[in-house]
Amino acid sequence: MRVVLFGPPGVGKGSQAQFLSEREGFTHISTGILLRREMRNSSELGKNARVYIEAGKLVPGIFVRNLAEDAISKCNFKKFVLDGYPRTIEQAKWLYDFLDQKEAAIDTVLSLVVPDEVIIDRLSKRRVNKVTGENYHLDFKPPPEDLEPGVIIQRKDDKPEAIKHRLEIYQAETSPVQNYYRKQHMLQEVDGTGTFEEVFDRIRTEIGISPA
Ligand code: AMP
Repeated sequence: MRVVLFGPPGVGKGSQAQFLSEREGFTHISTGILLRREMRNSSELGKNARVYIEAGKLVPGIFVRNLAEDAISKCNFKKFVLDGYPRTIEQAKWLYDFLDQKEAAIDTVLSLVVPDEVIIDRLSKRRVNKVTGENYHLDFKPPPEDLEPGVIIQRKDDKPEAIKHRLEIYQAETSPVQNYYRKQHMLQEVDGTGTFEEVFDRIRTEIGISPA
């Protein structure tokens, strides 16, 4: 099964994709995580991408196209969940063409829906372990207290100015992707409010996996 998790930054795509990976055996493919890994490794790509990411802008599509396609090839086009890709109509078309060659179409696009104020709260209270990449929320999933100082950080693109910018970009460039999939009858909306477990149960129901 091939799934795209869709929605604005902070809607919970990463956490739900991680659940699908840990509990249901999906390969989690997040272009954001792949880009941050390139940044940590100070690769040429990572250095080029950093400027865009830290400003809350989209990186040029070609940077992420190769990352996403390599990761999809590595899992043999089977059982993956895309998180944060595609983010533009151009990327959605690339994805279609890439999968079409292998007759491995996306089965469903799950669009997580939550009110704007919840998104802003989730992003501004998000913290990340800079070593493992694990995400936390200051209220609902506080980071462990026994870690070395400085390991838990706030992403630069989770600061208020960058958040504002990311949400504007989402409206302008990414939300049209939703209509693109809706027109193809591939889009399923999923209520993204409530606990991680509640949202995950809805996702499982939507994709036809019975709750544990
Ligand atoms: P994320 O972890 O998905 O929120 O992604 C973090 C940042 O990586 C985004 O704000 C963009 O700057 C960049 N990024 C991730 N995926 C894409 C994509 N598909 N297209 C363009 N930029 C992306």
